[in-house]
Amino acid sequence: MTNPVLAEGLGPFALPDFAAITDADFAPAFDQALTEARANIAAIAANPEAPSFANTIEALEQAEGLLDRVAGVFYNLSGADSTPAREALMRDLAPKMAAFASEVTMNRPLFARVERLWEMRESLELTPEQARVLELYFKMFVRSGAALQGVDAERMTEIKERLAVLSTAFSQNLLADERDWFRPLAEDELEGLPDFVVAAAKAAGAERGQDGPVLTLNRSLIVPFLQFSSRRDLRETAYEAWVARGANGGPTDNRVIAAEILNLREERAKLLGYDSFAAYKLEPEMAKTPENVRDLLMRVWTPAKARAEADAAKLTAMMHADGINGDLEAWDWRYYSEKRRVAEHDFDEAALKPYLSLDAMLGAMFDTANRLFGLDFRPIAGPFYHADVRGWEVSRKGRHIAVFLGDYFARPSKRSGAWCSAMRSQKKLGGETRPIVVNVCNFAKGDPCLLSYDDARTLFHEFGHALHQMLSDVTYQFVSGTSVARDFVELPSQLYEHWMEVPEVLEKHARHWQTGEAMPKALLDKLLAAATYDQGFLTVEFVASALVDLAFHEGAAPADPMALQAQVLAEIGMPKAIRMRHATPHFGHVFSGDGYSSGYYSYMWSEVMDADAFAAFEETGNAFDPATAERLERCILSVGGSVPADAAWMAFRGKTPGVEALLKGRGLVEA
Ligand SMILES: [Zn+2]
Repeated sequence: MTNPVLAEGLGPFALPDFAAITDADFAPAFDQALTEARANIAAIAANPEAPSFANTIEALEQAEGLLDRVAGVFYNLSGADSTPAREALMRDLAPKMAAFASEVTMNRPLFARVERLWEMRESLELTPEQARVLELYFKMFVRSGAALQGVDAERMTEIKERLAVLSTAFSQNLLADERDWFRPLAEDELEGLPDFVVAAAKAAGAERGQDGPVLTLNRSLIVPFLQFSSRRDLRETAYEAWVARGANGGPTDNRVIAAEILNLREERAKLLGYDSFAAYKLEPEMAKTPENVRDLLMRVWTPAKARAEADAAKLTAMMHADGINGDLEAWDWRYYSEKRRVAEHDFDEAALKPYLSLDAMLGAMFDTANRLFGLDFRPIAGPFYHADVRGWEVSRKGRHIAVFLGDYFARPSKRSGAWCSAMRSQKKLGGETRPIVVNVCNFAKGDPCLLSYDDARTLFHEFGHALHQMLSDVTYQFVSGTSVARDFVELPSQLYEHWMEVPEVLEKHARHWQTGEAMPKALLDKLLAAATYDQGFLTVEFVASALVDLAFHEGAAPADPMALQAQVLAEIGMPKAIRMRHATPHFGHVFSGDGYSSGYYSYMWSEVMDADAFAAFEETGNAFDPATAERLERCILSVGGSVPADAAWMAFRGKTPGVEALLKGRGLVEA
């Protein structure tokens, strides 16, 4: 009998045969798929014919077809519905998959063929998409070090290995510092804390074998403690312990590790021929250069700092009215800000929930996609991979577009957070393949399931990613759907969130699940007003971290990262009562791996674009303007990575993204 993971799919949409697949099927399926992929790669590399786009790039595109199918099913299941067997297989697979990936990029004869094609690219008569795919393959090889020879190649391997060791140590030190520090709270030290914070502190105490409540450095406990504790002395102790993570001296200190990481990154970038690590990292991004990143951050910094300083003056006055003289300190901000929020923006968030049932919000989400892109959604029967999963066929004017699966409820077998994945990606090479796209969330299951406002935004956010996959219309999987620059990939998702807040969408869909009444306007207005609260503080702490990240990776690596951090903060005039969102010794985004190194800015970059992209609709006076929606699909959602991000953006918007819409959205300038 054939392994059901390897089999062609079932039914009209060729879905994986979930009912037949067992955990025992995965390991042999991976073995067979890896063997097949290796044989395919070896055949391409050894092909006696001269390299052509078809026998090299298109062959590479198809070499891992079976592996894609197996991995598509397995990695979705291991994230959304794990079992001990799946976890064990994940651990086994991590080194195997990494080894396979580096075998491909370090395969010299294979690289020689890609390089030859790159050199002859002008004479190959490629379509624009083919030219782009060739460029991306070539750069993937070069950026991973395939072009290096002799001692340089050896040194590159050493650097990569050492960086992997250092980033793991950085994460583990951080975890150790977070785990080891706790402080028992006596009865009189609970002053000001609401019940949910006391309960969380008691739970943390029980976890640590303590009798009573304890304070820990877990973000979900320490942030509410800083918001609510009226004991200024304890807030100071807690805050200083929190920001000292990774900088406590001894074996868990991350400062020396950070310096070594920055040195090795610089050396790696230089070996590859770049001026700096930032230049290397930003090359494939929409931002392209450190100058572009700094320019954007500084345009946001100035109004954000002005807003934060005005807010600081108000909070200082509140503190003085409490009889505490002197300056507002970092451990005072959240406390007085919370008091001010209650005075200015208090409302009962729970009162919103009956209007935000999951079914109502799914209706809103699908209706929006129908009005913008003409998509129809028809429920289809499973079985899917879990009883909670729901499926829809997505079509347009009767033409099949995709299968969409929604897996919305939290369960112990699901990792936390929310995400979108393609179990099968769109492509046309080897025959039109339409995608299977999954959205996974962690909403509390209920009957009915009622969402918080944040949950509803998450629902729309992940569906924006899903549309990017479903509307993809490219030939090559390498550039399909969300295979775009990191600082571009959140544009479709963050943009889609805007439609949830369009008044007519809420009026039509945000209906009380029992009475069918529309959400009261006053409730909604309060919620929207509260959304911009304290954005001066949040923007300042974020931008400061992003600027330090950038400075670390430009030019020569600093001998003392802490000194450079201090210098950057002094230069921008960091307000006294606000510190970086992540200081160097616990800046995991930058040092626990390469993902967001020289890339922390990208969250804000995406926000600038989503705000400006939605402004394109608003400027027409119609949030569903058909011409703008058509342009969005044609220029951005359908092209994936086949067009560079900046060109896709320019085709859609006709001008570079401005920060004005973001500043208005965050309430940093008058709307
Ligand atoms: Zn996202």
